[in-house]
Amino acid sequence: MTPDQRRVLRTALLEASPWLAHPEHGPQTVDAGSCGRCEQDPRLLPTCGPAGHEALCRRCALELGDDGWCDGHLEEGRAARAWAEQLPPRWGELVVLWWVATGEVRPGAAAGVATDGLPTAVRAALPSPE
Ligand SMILES: [Zn+2]
Ligand SMILES: [Zn+2]
Repeated sequence: MTPDQRRVLRTALLEASPWLAHPEHGPQTVDAGSCGRCEQDPRLLPTCGPAGHEALCRRCALELGDDGWCDGHLEEGRAARAWAEQLPPRWGELVVLWWVATGEVRPGAAAGVATDGLPTAVRAALPSPE
């Protein structure tokens, strides 16, 4: 993808899902990759690590609850989980596409994302399968 194509995808994603750019939670706040606990879903929330994971997906964060954060960060953890809870069901696909748009993962990663149901502008901005 060219920088221009990535910019178009970023714009389309942000318009449909402004939460992707949240400064404290979400894909901008973690290194691109899988959840440190289940290693399946994309990372969504950074943690301070008391449970041994530096970043968690939504399901793992909700399952761990307060155990995912140290005593000093209980409030931050709760705020992060409350934020995660209200995301759309397909947050994971959008997070992967966000990382494609920022260049943190290879454009090929978009091929694993089910695109039906995504906003037209997002679909139009996706890299063509190679
Ligand atoms: Zn997980
Ligand atoms: Zn902490």
